[in-house]
Amino acid sequence: MHTPSGIKTPYYLYNLDVLHRTLQAALAAAGNYGYHIHYALKANHNPVITDIISNYGFGADCVSGNEVTEALHRGFPAQKVVFAGVGKSDEEIQHALENDILCFNCESVEELQIISQIAEECQKVAAVALRVNPHVQAQTHKYITTGLEENKFGIQLSRLQEALELCRQSQWIDFKGLHFHIGSQIMSMQPFEELCRKVNHIWQKFRIDEYNPVMLNLGGGLGVDYSNPDVLPDFENFFSHIAKNLAIPSHIKVHFELGRSLVAQCGSLITKVLYTKEGNQKDFVIADAGMTELMRPALYQAVHKIENITSEGAPALYDVVGPICESSDVFAKNIALPLTRRGDLLAVKSCGAYAESMMLRYNMRGRAHSYFVGDGQISGNSCREEAEATVQ
Ligand SMILES: *Cc1c(COP(=O)(O)O)cnc(C)c1O
Repeated sequence: MHTPSGIKTPYYLYNLDVLHRTLQAALAAAGNYGYHIHYALKANHNPVITDIISNYGFGADCVSGNEVTEALHRGFPAQKVVFAGVGKSDEEIQHALENDILCFNCESVEELQIISQIAEECQKVAAVALRVNPHVQAQTHKYITTGLEENKFGIQLSRLQEALELCRQSQWIDFKGLHFHIGSQIMSMQPFEELCRKVNHIWQKFRIDEYNPVMLNLGGGLGVDYSNPDVLPDFENFFSHIAKNLAIPSHIKVHFELGRSLVAQCGSLITKVLYTKEGNQKDFVIADAGMTELMRPALYQAVHKIENITSEGAPALYDVVGPICESSDVFAKNIALPLTRRGDLLAVKSCGAYAESMMLRYNMRGRAHSYFVGDGQISGNSCREEAEATVQ
């Protein structure tokens, strides 16, 4: 692995060649079906990454006013920005209105009333897609399932009619279509097929065409293979399943909001071994990165592949843990690593998504920096000169 050395650990290391390959594959596959992709900024808002993504012509999917600001700042055109979230504040709604974004993904009848009211105050018509909760089981971790009745997201089917009527009645709402997002890290095509069937059904049952829709947004959620970090998501397979199962009028533009699948495999978290602590059953590897740099294992019991990029010793079993004062600060249990010693570097793979963007300051931790390889270059967000001087 091509890794800058002598740089303060832990740090995020992004391979831009992998990013470019992923983005090109996603665009080519979506293009085959005339689909539009918005990048979900919450997966990773590192400006080096988002600049590249906006340059490819992707839209942006935002879940806060700050993400809307950042997306515009990174060059995503306002007319390709969508804004979701169950708790948009009045200021965030006003801000998005003033910037003429493509649409709000509205999550409740109550929010719709407020958007209409604020739009009237601003004397600006709000473009709105209704986020519908379709009651589809996403077959993923319960904390990243979003399309079930028990989840806080989206408009329940029992209130969709009311929401549609409100769109029709308010002169300050421009109804654009329907939006869905059933969850994240979905590895089977079956939930997406079921989503398509639900969408077809809802489209018919609620006579959506009578409200003059122009778009359908199916959200994100396409998973990545965390046990094979070198394997990129199969975008062609994903979009072809959608195309096969979706039955809505052909003039409706179909949009997606992909986060993880676009960026997860281009990043690693590089951490140094501080101690190997002998236990009764097995030894602990205590790394200098923890849940503050990669929260997913503590939050979702996620498993990332870990490589010792220093040692070539005989394999032994370890628990790899972080330094944070929480028992959930564990990266992996009982994994085989080459004989590991203090000072070795570990690469925690598939950390391009929901790692740096979820960084915490808990325990008053310092901020981990990011570095970039690929594109025939290496550079960092900070300590750039140091990175260039020390890379082999
Ligand atoms: C997080 C999120 C996404 C992206 O999900 P991924 O699983 O990263 O593709 C898309 N849409 C909405 C509304 C989201 O909240």
